Amino acid sequence: MTHDAAVSSAREIASRVLAPSAVQNDKAGQFSTEAVKSLGEAGLLGLMLPTDSGGSGLGPRTFAAVVTALAQADASVAMVYVMHVMGAASIAAARPSAAQALSPILQEIGAGRHLSTLAFSEAGSRSHFWAPISRARRNGGSVHISAKKSWVTSAGFAQSYIVSALAPEGAGPIDSTLYFLTAGTPGLSVAGPWDGLGLRANASAPIALEDCEIPSHFQLTDDGAGFPAMLNVVMPLFNLGSAAVALGLCRAAVAGTTSHLKAAKFDHLGQSLGESLPTLRAQLATMQIDTDGLSSRIADLVDHLETPCDTTMLRVLETKAAAGDVAISVTSAAMRVCGGAAFSKHLGVERLFRDAHAGAVMAPTGDVLREFIGKSLLGIPLF
Ligand SMILES: Cc1cc2nc3c(=O)[nH]c(=O)nc-3n(C[C@H](O)[C@H](O)[C@H](O)COP(=O)(O)OP(=O)(O)OC[C@H]3O[C@@H](n4cnc5c(N)ncnc54)[C@H](O)[C@@H]3O)c2cc1C
Repeated sequence: MTHDAAVSSAREIASRVLAPSAVQNDKAGQFSTEAVKSLGEAGLLGLMLPTDSGGSGLGPRTFAAVVTALAQADASVAMVYVMHVMGAASIAAARPSAAQALSPILQEIGAGRHLSTLAFSEAGSRSHFWAPISRARRNGGSVHISAKKSWVTSAGFAQSYIVSALAPEGAGPIDSTLYFLTAGTPGLSVAGPWDGLGLRANASAPIALEDCEIPSHFQLTDDGAGFPAMLNVVMPLFNLGSAAVALGLCRAAVAGTTSHLKAAKFDHLGQSLGESLPTLRAQLATMQIDTDGLSSRIADLVDHLETPCDTTMLRVLETKAAAGDVAISVTSAAMRVCGGAAFSKHLGVERLFRDAHAGAVMAPTGDVLREFIGKSLLGIPLF
């Protein structure tokens, strides 16, 4: 698959599958298995996996463009996709001793039949996902884990979960290990409903692990090496994907606002809203400027990820922090410009506004990213 083919497939799925059901799925808080099936059939679930593992071997540029196209139609599905790509990347980066056992899983992902996700956040350490409270307990050749994972996108729908836990002999709070758990692992269950303000159709419910046994061939990282994998394998791509979701939301907000300003009329003046009110035109223009600014920022991050240099990690941190704020600002402006029609949910704009608020609170949160950026500029250790 080429970059262009992947992006055009994503656009086609967005308009044929996602757009027609986004409103209803948001209302009902219903996960779209149809969307995941379509992404799988189009080969998009294996987008970034190496070709010798059954994937398409495409890079961050294509990933960002695909996510943006999906998010323009339905940010819930786009975030399901982002979390899946993080899961798939974690599996593909597994230590050599797990490679043989995980090879059939990668082939299944490449064939579009396996959805994965991350289960990092815990009730005890909240958004500080790098510091799990749960600890793996060694038992012969395997480990046992009990944990309360507080939000897991695609909970109950994914075929596998990438789970973090403190290493059995880990001495410090970030000495974690990553494990691969199939959905059918005894002791793993969805522990509650998902009824979020936004991203309502992505099943980000808690899961419970009760004495789950994990064989050593499903241990993805060496003991204590979970943290560097979170930082180097997951965070750059997650921050890019999260920013791409924000960009899709901004583009949808600009499009929705533009069409409302053209269609809604002041009959007594014989003009549309857009023709009549310069203040609305100015706010729409600011939305467009901010959206294009975010697009440039994402393109810059893609360049950095393709050709890493000294400033790459800074860009990784900055881009997600900025994207969360831009999405909230642009969708808030859309709510104001579209007025009562948006407030009373006659337009799709209000869903975009709610969805946009997830980006800043998904870890690493916007506040934590600022902490990291500020500390790193001042030469203060981050952890
Ligand atoms: C829609 C959705 C999907 C999610 N999907 C997943 C998933 O698939 N897998 C997963 O592992 N997790 C997932 N999460 C969890 C997410 O990544 C965060 O862990 C969670 O949103 C944190 O919420 P909290 O209230 O526990 O944060 P808290 O840690 O209680 O934070 C509360 C506030 O304090 C601020 N804060 C916290 N620490 C600092 C600091 N050091 N400096 C400054 N400010 C700080 C935060 O920014 C926030 O504003 C998801 C969350 C959402 C909303």
